[in-house]
This record gives sequence, structure tokens and C-alpha cells, in this order.
Amino acid sequence: MTSSSSRNARRPVIAIVGGGIGGLATALALRQRGFEVTVFERSEALGEIGAGIAIAPNAVKVLRALGREPRLIQQGFEPEAYTGWDWKSGKSLFSTPRKGLHQKLYGAGYYHIHRADLHALLAEAIPSSVVRLGMECTGVEDGPSAAIASFADGTRFEADAIIGADGIRSIVRRSLFGEDRPRFTGIVCWRGMVPTGDLPPGHVPPTGSNWHGPHGHVTHYYVRRGTLVNFVAVREQSSWTDESWTAKSTREDLLAAFEGWHPRLRLLLSRSLHYYKWGLFDREPLAEWGRGRITLLGDAAHPMLPFLGQGAAQAMEDAYALARLLEGQDSARLPDALRAYESARKPRATRVQLGSRARAGEVHLASAWKRVLRDMRYRIQGWLQPRRPANRAEWILGYDITTADLGGPVSRV
Ligand code: FAD
Repeated sequence: MTSSSSRNARRPVIAIVGGGIGGLATALALRQRGFEVTVFERSEALGEIGAGIAIAPNAVKVLRALGREPRLIQQGFEPEAYTGWDWKSGKSLFSTPRKGLHQKLYGAGYYHIHRADLHALLAEAIPSSVVRLGMECTGVEDGPSAAIASFADGTRFEADAIIGADGIRSIVRRSLFGEDRPRFTGIVCWRGMVPTGDLPPGHVPPTGSNWHGPHGHVTHYYVRRGTLVNFVAVREQSSWTDESWTAKSTREDLLAAFEGWHPRLRLLLSRSLHYYKWGLFDREPLAEWGRGRITLLGDAAHPMLPFLGQGAAQAMEDAYALARLLEGQDSARLPDALRAYESARKPRATRVQLGSRARAGEVHLASAWKRVLRDMRYRIQGWLQPRRPANRAEWILGYDITTADLGGPVSRV
């Protein structure tokens, strides 16, 4: 054990549990401010699942501050617009421009990217010696002058602070607050990836698309500079399904669930290289995110349904806020700085978490009458406020965590 006076004299050591999008963004942001960081990832290799992800302007601003925006632009795809489609007629319900406009309105573009490419563009900016692979955390303990993370291989690592960025089923969260009780939402998702070359030319417009239907919706967009189309197909279903993102499904299973939907969409769904299926589970916002020298970040802190496309974006906002609030703090002051981070981030992350839950209801309306009213609202909003996002989420997109007032006793603006 290092003595507390020598701890305060040197650079604090931060341990991050989880090398996903949130963990790597945190490592990068903390290293930028001079912290000594170690990331512990349970997988044997760094990587991500084969799926797409939307990077909204609020997340782009974090990547910009971390020096990663040029790689995002190079690897991703900037959609022309965001378009809603009717499940049966295939007619457009609304279309909000994105390319160029987001930069003007919100200070950054809006991109779609393959998750593996996003993960890689973060990982390539971090020396490999910072990440310890094959390290499965089994628990954490808080102490007056240090926190300790334990691992499945018997290793115990002592740090000035531990950040639990270990995802939706976080061990760090369980170690601090006990088992949670996720609620099956009655919603299952399929995801797939279609090579653009396997589709008729022009089959998928260069926009982000969202097909609205009764009891379900499908989103799709280009990733990897337009060479692949990513889709997520979402359906209400009473039976319980695995929460894992890597459980396999089949083309037949997916097409049966979207029987009667427009042939243009069904053709896209039928051409995927692979099919995965998982159930969506909802968790209530946590009362606290951390204790002492330990805190949570990303999905571990605020697991959210994917309907606002903000899980990773909020993890990146957390990462940047944490680095800003920890900067310049010595070991003794880190617990206060961690509480300041939680106070700064909790209201916004909780609002997004609850907003994602509410959004599911809007896109899945089963009643034909309610769908007519909703579609009418889209049209009226399109006439009156053509630049306003259909989901009215400008409070999410316009936010900039790199300059926002983070408040609290240790604020560093
Ligand atoms: P994760 O990405 O889950 O990373 C956790 C890491 O911790 C993993 O590498 C894991 O291996 C590791 N780990 C876990 N347990 C341990 C342990 N015990 N010890 C060591 N390591 C451990 N977000 C967006 O911003 N935009 C979108 O468009 C979007 N679309 C989505 C679509 C779908 C269908 C879904 C399901 C999610 C979507 N999200 C989106 C959400 C986003 O993917 C997550 O919020 C984001 O990945 C959270 O990052 P994280 O780093 O907190 O967790």
C-alpha cells in the first residue's frame, strides 16, 4: 500500500473497468489531462460487434475535443436527411434535412458509423500498454486512501479512483449497489448488415430511415462510407428473449415478424449477411452512481433503451465531463470530484434515459387512429418548422459537454 502523503504528491492512478466505447473515450479524455490510466477489459481482444451506431452532434463535439473527428468523417457516413416511412404504403411521413444543417444549427455534423470503426478510432489513439485484456473484474472495494478492483485471475489492482464503464450488466454497479431488476419491455430487436452492392442501385436513399408501423419500427442507414447498410428491426412481442447482443436469428424469423410491411423494406431485410436478435430490458434510473473513490459511467450508470440513439453519446459526454472535473485534483480530493461529476451528469443522462423510454411508445402506436394523429403532427411540424428534428430532440443535439457549465465545487470551465 502506498502511504496517503505520497499518494497526494504524485499523479493519481485511475482504473477503468471496461474497454467499450465509454471506457476508451474516458481513457483518452483522462490521458489528455495528464492522468495515469489503466483500462481493464474482460475480452481477450479489443473489438466491437458488427452493428452500426449514430453519432449525433453532441457526441461529435466530444470526438472533436479528443482529436478524433477527422477519423470519424473519414470512416463514417453523413446522411442527407432523416426520413420517416409508412410501413405499408412506403410513403414518406416526414423528412428533416441533416447534412450541412446540423453543423449550422448544432455546431457539428451527424454521422453513422460501424461500431467497430468507432471503437478502433478511439483505440488507435491509446497506447496498447494502457489496456489490459482478458481481465474480468469480479468486484470493487472502496477505502479511505485507495479503491481496489479484483479480477477473476486473482489480481487485485489498487487505484486512486475506479470508473465502472463495464456496460449494461455492470459488475462494478452490482458490487456497489447489489443486483438490479431489469424489466423485459416486451420489445425484441433484430439487427443485420447488408452490403450495398447486394441491393438494386439506389434502393436505399442516402438518409437515415425510420419505418413506423403498428407494434414495431425499423431503422436503417449507411455505414463504412456507404458500402454497408445497417438495420435494426424492432417489434413488440410478449415472449421473453435473451438480452445478449450476440444471439443469432434467421432471415425467416425476421421476415415472419415483418409480414405485410412494404416490399422495399422486406427486400433490404432479406439481404443481410447475418441476423442477430435480442430482447430489450429497461432499468430505472439509479439513485446514486458511486461511492467514495468509485463511480459509474455510460451504460453502467444509465442503461437506456436505444430509441433516441444516445447510449454511446451519453457515455462520451460522461467521459469528457469526468476528465474536466477530475483535472488538477489530487488523490485526497478525488471522491469530491467524482460526486461533482455525478451531480453534473445525472440530470441530463436521466432525462435522456426517460426520453428514450417515452419515444418507444410514439413510434410503435398500435391504434390506427393514433397513428393518423401522429403522422399529421409530423406533417404540420414539417410545414411550420422544416428544420426541427421529428423527435424534437434539439436539446440533445445542441448540447456541448466540452464547454457546458458543470457546476459543483470543483468545476473547471
Ligand atoms: P459497452 O459498450 O457495453 O462496453 C462495456 C465494456 O465492458 C465491454 O467491452 C465489455 O466487454 C466490458 N466488460 C463488461 N463486463 C466486464 C467485466 N466484469 N470486467 C471487465 N470488462 C467488462 N448509442 C448511440 O449513441 N447511438 C446509437 O445510434 C445507438 N444505437 C444503439 C442501437 C442498439 C440496438 C443498441 C442496443 C444500443 C445502441 N446505442 C446507441 C447504445 C450504445 O451502444 C451503448 O450505450 C454504448 O455501447 C455504451 O457504452 P459503454 O462503454 O457504457 O458500454
